[in-house]
Amino acid sequence: MKAVAPGGTIGILGGGQLGRMLALAAARLGLKAHIYCDDADAAAAQVSDAHTVGKFDDTAALTRFAQACDAVTLEFENVPAATVAHIATLKPMNPCARALAITQDRFDEKSFIQSLGLTTPRFVAVDSATDAARGFADFGGRAILKTRRFGYDGKGQAKPASADNAAAAFRRFSAPSILESFIDFAFEASVIAARGADGRFAAYDPPENAHENHILRRSTVPGRLTAAQGEDAKAIARKIATALDYVGVLAVELFVMRDGSLTVNEIAPRVHNSGHWTIEACAVSQFEQHIRAVAGWPLGDPARHADAVMENIIGAEADAWEDYAARPGALHLYGKGEARAGRKMGHFTTLGPLTRGRADNRVRPQ
Ligand code: AMP
Repeated sequence: MKAVAPGGTIGILGGGQLGRMLALAAARLGLKAHIYCDDADAAAAQVSDAHTVGKFDDTAALTRFAQACDAVTLEFENVPAATVAHIATLKPMNPCARALAITQDRFDEKSFIQSLGLTTPRFVAVDSATDAARGFADFGGRAILKTRRFGYDGKGQAKPASADNAAAAFRRFSAPSILESFIDFAFEASVIAARGADGRFAAYDPPENAHENHILRRSTVPGRLTAAQGEDAKAIARKIATALDYVGVLAVELFVMRDGSLTVNEIAPRVHNSGHWTIEACAVSQFEQHIRAVAGWPLGDPARHADAVMENIIGAEADAWEDYAARPGALHLYGKGEARAGRKMGHFTTLGPLTRGRADNRVRPQ
């Protein structure tokens, strides 16, 4: 694709904090951001040049939006694939509708990951209460039921204690689901990587992630991953990005197993909460990297120049903003009005001296 020159406009579908940080990164490169979402007071729109308030099925509004942009991307993986396919008829749109469609459905996503020879938890499709009960027994009574679509931060998930429980959880969801074997992992990690329009690939050092109440609490880099596990994680991301013909940043969430191997939990076709530390700890953050990729620019250097710990600021924790502001580190607040329970309001990143080498962070050829 022809690169979007400075002064051009990147359209972003979705208006949350990820869009906000993408818009800020675009501004640093002399690019403008145009947000499309249905919330008139969206966090992303507060820092962008333009905002179209519209629904994802409003074809006329989407068409006008696309016509006002030079390239379009998204910050929210539940944008309908049909919306993305429509925009792609008008302007360069990344990630593509196929990558989005695969990652929006947990069954299709895990089938795709396995087709690449990568490991996921065992899983079965659940279309009835009977399927749920039978799957629970097949997985030895240790399983998680998840809706195939629209789950995030633990929503649309249940950990049944019995086959009856599994059947009841399916009835409650009343939506196509999967049952997964419950994984007794050592810890969780993720890898944030980018693929450029020219096929080049770059990955950040993978952080270790801690969750509380299904919400990311903390990302630590380097965490407990060994150098070899870090390389494995990057190779997994590269395989996935190449197979999806992906352009932009994607995140792969991983379970680090007790035997040291990596199991893929899920793919996020967007910038990711566990990559926020790249703003301070890398020359080119995940947000700038994504803007570079979707604007057809060369990928930037993902090398890390510091160790980092990123903590989310969730719900009423944001009331302590003055305390955070007084701490050494970088405070980010997302401009969200209401501090509802579980809502991501900001994050705080603390840096430390680099404790591990940076030789493995090169941008790789196609
Ligand atoms: P997900 O929405 O699939 O990313 O799941 C959210 C969180 O639930 C993960 O980050 C894990 O902490 C936990 N989880 C999800 N799937 C499994 C599994 N198969 N076994 C154990 N824990 C899981």
